[in-house]
Amino acid sequence: MRWSQTFIPTHKEDPADAEIISHKLMVRAGLMHKLSSGVYTYLPLGLRTIKKVEQIVRQEMNAAGAVELLMPIMQPSELWRETGRWDVYGKELMKVKDRQNRDFALGPTHEEVITDLIRGQIRSYKRLPLILYQIQTKFRDEIRPRFGVMRAREFVMKDAYSFHENEASLDETYQRMYQAYTRIFQRCGLSTAPVMADSGAIGGDVTHEFMVLADTGEGEILSCECGYAATAEGAQSQLAPYKVEEKIKSMEKVETPEAHTVEQVTQFLNIDARRLVKTIFYRCDEQIIAILIRGDREVNEAKVHRILGCSTLEMATAEEILQVSGAPVGFSGPVGLKGMQMIADLSLKGLANIVVGANEDQCHMINVNFPRDFTVKRFEDLHLAQAGDLCPSCGKILTSRRGIEVGQIFKLGAKYSKSLKAKFLDQNGKESPFIMGCYGIGITRTVAAAIEQYHDQDGIIWPMTIAPYQVLILPLNVSDEMTMAAADGFYKQLVDAGLEVLLDDRDERAGFKFKDADLIGIPLRLTVGERSLRQGKVEVKLRRQNQVIKVDRDKAVSMIREMISEERLASEKS
Ligand SMILES: [Zn+2]
Repeated sequence: MRWSQTFIPTHKEDPADAEIISHKLMVRAGLMHKLSSGVYTYLPLGLRTIKKVEQIVRQEMNAAGAVELLMPIMQPSELWRETGRWDVYGKELMKVKDRQNRDFALGPTHEEVITDLIRGQIRSYKRLPLILYQIQTKFRDEIRPRFGVMRAREFVMKDAYSFHENEASLDETYQRMYQAYTRIFQRCGLSTAPVMADSGAIGGDVTHEFMVLADTGEGEILSCECGYAATAEGAQSQLAPYKVEEKIKSMEKVETPEAHTVEQVTQFLNIDARRLVKTIFYRCDEQIIAILIRGDREVNEAKVHRILGCSTLEMATAEEILQVSGAPVGFSGPVGLKGMQMIADLSLKGLANIVVGANEDQCHMINVNFPRDFTVKRFEDLHLAQAGDLCPSCGKILTSRRGIEVGQIFKLGAKYSKSLKAKFLDQNGKESPFIMGCYGIGITRTVAAAIEQYHDQDGIIWPMTIAPYQVLILPLNVSDEMTMAAADGFYKQLVDAGLEVLLDDRDERAGFKFKDADLIGIPLRLTVGERSLRQGKVEVKLRRQNQVIKVDRDKAVSMIREMISEERLASEKS
């Protein structure tokens, strides 16, 4: 491709709304253009890389036994109502109406559509397992789109869904997908860490996220030297117990005027936050429940959601709290709280002489001890894990790293097949719901993650396997006939050799073209100039290295071919 004939609008300045490097570079290097908040046009250069990632994904999905199809973006609300997600998915679900005033969703995910497809078509276990996938545009009405395609409203995803007769078959496919994902990201040149995660709005029991390690990542990973790794939301942890040698004292009510936050209460009573126990109320479907947690920790709502198995979970309102505890927010506690499910976080274990709300306005109870003053029947891991906590599998200290989620795989079980009544006849002729898995990869996100991992102050440094072009030919002076004849000659030879080549035939200063070359990050640059040509030489340079290699012009093509194969191997191994 000749630069003058394609469309690569590069920019000197970072876009004003860009906070992270991939967003800045994707706009500056002319890979994409913002149409509206969180909505982008993928320009020719960006689209080439997107297609390359898609191709790698496609090859590995096909090799893993998955079959491609393409589902609609517009999904009737009836299906989302059947699974109950129309109301619980939240405002990220982009809802639209057609001219007959019927409700539709622009698909952020396709569990409903694919399960509906299968429930009408597959009746026998003999057709299972079945794995289907698509590569398609998704919509998510983000409250605050940012970070370019990382948190866009419209983005490209690969989503796969598998159907099984039993858990064992799902386990086998889940493992196969796990391996396929590992290979996909490796082939894209990315070093990823698979970590245990929380299943969020998709649901299911077991899930892994594939994270690209990057300091700018939105996701926090907690890991241990024993190999345990999980997202902060998905992580379990043990807490170092807060124990002070002391006698059990008598419970006492004290006035704590205007002190209702942890900070205010601990200051007023001059106590460690670990001695204060917060009582937090949630509405779990129709029922109000109470969570007890140490004052220095936060509740991980995803864990509460999962442990209770409810479909909706929300913080109780101030009125509800007043109604069940008799006290305004900040003054409720477990002592005398009747007729309510109460679950304590593991952080409460070993505590003595604690402080809790007194269920009376402006009052707290001090020196509270359980089971003397109240009973807790159920202890669970409900706190948000953090660095410094202890590893759930070996007890060593968890450390924190940041990462970008590029893929996630889920064991869904029968969640969707049950609610959508998708059943098949098993080997005994009995009707059972399909056991399902689902597997996503953010295609545009993977492109952005690659830039986060591979760039320098001058621009992108594409791994060879996903670079939009492999070679950039840069003639220094396009008005010089000898230079252009040589550049054209190289272009033809490299294209004939099956390589992807961009020829910068723009009539611009060499310095300007070098800057653009570094910005768009094509892995190999071939510089053609009058002075070198007179010595029978051209210059070859790898974008990721500093040194320029002078080569005989008749050896340049074979050398470039060799370097490309080496680079491909190198990026797949990294
Ligand atoms: Zn460990």
